[in-house]
Amino acid sequence: MNRILVANSEGTPGVAQAAEMLAAGAGGLDAIEAGIRLVEADTSIRTVGRGGWPNLLGEVELDAAIIDGNSFRSGAVGALKGYLHPISVARAVLERLPHEFLAGEGAARFAEEIGAEKGDNLTPDSARVWREWFEENVPPAARGDWPDVPLAELCQQAIDPEKGKDTTVYLTLDGRGEIMAGVSTSGWAWKYPGRLGDSPVIGAGCFADTRYGAAACTGTGEMAIRAGTSRAIVLYMKMGLSLTAAVDEAIEDLRRLQGGLLQRITLHAIDRDGRHRVVAVNAEDQLYYWLWREGDAAPRSEPTEIVAL
Ligand code: ASP
Repeated sequence: MNRILVANSEGTPGVAQAAEMLAAGAGGLDAIEAGIRLVEADTSIRTVGRGGWPNLLGEVELDAAIIDGNSFRSGAVGALKGYLHPISVARAVLERLPHEFLAGEGAARFAEEIGAEKGDNLTPDSARVWREWFEENVPPAARGDWPDVPLAELCQQAIDPEKGKDTTVYLTLDGRGEIMAGVSTSGWAWKYPGRLGDSPVIGAGCFADTRYGAAACTGTGEMAIRAGTSRAIVLYMKMGLSLTAAVDEAIEDLRRLQGGLLQRITLHAIDRDGRHRVVAVNAEDQLYYWLWREGDAAPRSEPTEIVAL
């Protein structure tokens, strides 16, 4: 067997647990959900779950998705407010609904219906950093009827407070030879309310096909949505490309993008033989990811490749 787990550095709180579960024979969906729940609960990870950065209005909206590479059943939630574990709500979409993707009020309604854990995801520290941003960037003249003011200009100026920090992504090839993927994020800091990134968009933020492999993206979600990057990587493998060539081809697609938000994007991929590749495109700093392979005592941190567009 070639069991493998690839997760990004934001996945740190959950990788040991997910690897132990895979080593003990758990299925990929269980290992991914358990690992990501630990990330969502850890407030030191400022880009996922509780403690994540809020939107322009100071509200935390969470996105998550999980996909079963055997059945292509997926579950995704977007702009979910007031619940601690979007990955578990996403999994419940996969398991209980005839739908694949719920957003906003409908996602919250479903979370309530299944008894998902409620919680205030805006920590005092995130509220403080948001308030500082507000004081510096929203001119007093524009505050009059806050929050009933135009936001389009403000979201153009939004700058993530922590550069290079991301969505968490988990890719697994489990002991049954099945390939799964899951992702969870608070999305772009200071985003326009209701903005969905790539993470909950199946095929953009993640994709899995047990016959070929899986992929997931972090960073500028707008780029992964436009290029369908995760689905593209897996499709390129289906069309006969090696894992390395498939990722190169997806990078070529990203090179074609013009206009819009073009910044860093990191591509994570595994194939069914247990190979993997992680490439940070347009990264200013060295990024790291977690790798666990069958027989390893624990996951180890590895540097990503870096490619400039
Ligand atoms: N990809 C995420 C998004 O666009 C953000 C990130 O990974 O940094 O929402």
